[in-house]
Amino acid sequence: MRAYGKGFEEFYNRVRDEGVKYIRRDLDKPIKVEREGEGDILSVTAENEEKKIKIEADLVVLASCIVPNKGAKEIIKLLKITQSADNFLLEAHPKLRPVETATDGIFLAGCCQGPKDIPDSVAQACGAAEAASIPLFQGKVEVEAITSSIDDEICSGCRSCESVCVYGALSFDEEEGVMTVNDVLCKGCGSCGSTCPSGAISMNHFKDVQIYAQMGAMI
Ligand code: SF4
Ligand code: SF4
Repeated sequence: MRAYGKGFEEFYNRVRDEGVKYIRRDLDKPIKVEREGEGDILSVTAENEEKKIKIEADLVVLASCIVPNKGAKEIIKLLKITQSADNFLLEAHPKLRPVETATDGIFLAGCCQGPKDIPDSVAQACGAAEAASIPLFQGKVEVEAITSSIDDEICSGCRSCESVCVYGALSFDEEEGVMTVNDVLCKGCGSCGSTCPSGAISMNHFKDVQIYAQMGAMI
């Protein structure tokens, strides 16, 4: 066992010296907590590769897990941000953009992103506040030049592209029955273009004819 974090290893060693026992168990087999006979004694049973372990205890304290708030789904839908496989809010990049989300202007701090202790939450909140202050001080933001463009004449309104855009840049025009793109939100990733079965989506400054021309010139 290796306890990460400042002072955690020292804490781990200290409590071991004070009599705390850490026992390796087989994670595939559940731990059972049962009452022994009619008395107050509880027994905890677990298994590891070598043997069955049984411990009698006056008191059993279970460490409960942390799960996302029930309201997180609404926030995710409202702000059009992404979520990880365990349903916490997802950062734009785990190493390079840890406090930013796929949606510009939305930043993460604390347990909404995953279980965290107080020092980590405070540090992340400082980072998120600083990241949010950059466009405020600059007074402007630069948007992506290569954005997608949808041809109304070709779009059949099938809505296949809508779900692939993690940036929430696509919205359906119910009146016209066509998909529309928000140029400010679009990051030009091209995912929608590769999904469209009608070939209605192209990327500005990066159209097929331009690519063919480049290839032709190269060949
Ligand atoms: S290019 Fe990417 S960001 Fe832009 S609308 Fe398509 S999927 Fe969304
Ligand atoms: S996938 Fe293509 S045809 Fe379907 S809604 Fe999107 S742009 Fe229109």
